[in-house]
Amino acid sequence: MTKKVEFKNVVTLKKALEEAEKGSYAIGSFAARYTDMIPAILRAGQKRQSPMIVQISQKELNRYHITPKEVGEAFYQAMEDEKITVPTVLHLDHTKDLSVIKEAIEAGFTSVMIDASEHPLDKNIEISKEAADYAHSKGVSVEAELGQIGTTDFIETDKDEELYTDPEEALQFVNETKADALAVSVGTAHGVYKTRQPKIDLDRLRAIRKLTPVHLVLHGGSGVPAEMMQGAMRLEDGGVSKVNIATDLEVSFLEALGREERMTNQECKDLPADEKARALEAVEATVIDKMDNFVQSSDKADSFQYE
Ligand SMILES: [Zn+2]
Repeated sequence: MTKKVEFKNVVTLKKALEEAEKGSYAIGSFAARYTDMIPAILRAGQKRQSPMIVQISQKELNRYHITPKEVGEAFYQAMEDEKITVPTVLHLDHTKDLSVIKEAIEAGFTSVMIDASEHPLDKNIEISKEAADYAHSKGVSVEAELGQIGTTDFIETDKDEELYTDPEEALQFVNETKADALAVSVGTAHGVYKTRQPKIDLDRLRAIRKLTPVHLVLHGGSGVPAEMMQGAMRLEDGGVSKVNIATDLEVSFLEALGREERMTNQECKDLPADEKARALEAVEATVIDKMDNFVQSSDKADSFQYE
């Protein structure tokens, strides 16, 4: 197994989101598309005394040529090097294959997402339940997706089709799968908003949360206005408690390098040290800005209690 047990502040998603929901804030789930971004994200959380989630999806693992094991090793090494004491979750985002979920859990991930949302309800339930049963048997949290979240850049997911989450279906889905968190489709999309405008259907969020205690997750957080997001976090019966922030981090990184094209994880490792350090400072600044002004998780670390 991994070094996970040495860090009492590396927690499950369930624990982190319970705490966030109580405080009416959300926790940013930051995509480390290059493993060298992990220490920068962690430093930001430590400086702002904010809980945080570091995530990578199955498609990103493939596209950037990284394995769950490499991510796990980089994460736990950085936890140690950066002396991180704030609550942190290591999360596997959008994943289709149970084999990758197993690899990630073996590598010390404390949360995994099974995304079978392209299937009809019954099949989605069957696949998600299998993943949830497995993860729960290992003490790991599970996020699943119901409805379909559109994409504008096809990096995290393949389909640009929107299908809003139905509250009654959400109730059945959560009851049967026992998922801890649910990615809902309520108007946001993955990638950069170019042609369409982001929106969040608050009535739909309220209706879902009224029926089930599942923690609500919004994907496609990049580019959503802060006031809109905060409205979704502050719903009376429990609002959105996890917000995925992927595109914005990579954009900061690449802009600071003065380049547009993405690279592989190895190409990132091979960048000249001074250039990379400058780009990682930009990533850290972006994460700090998101914690302070977007999900409002700064200074929330001390409300967490550990066994
Ligand atoms: Zn997503």
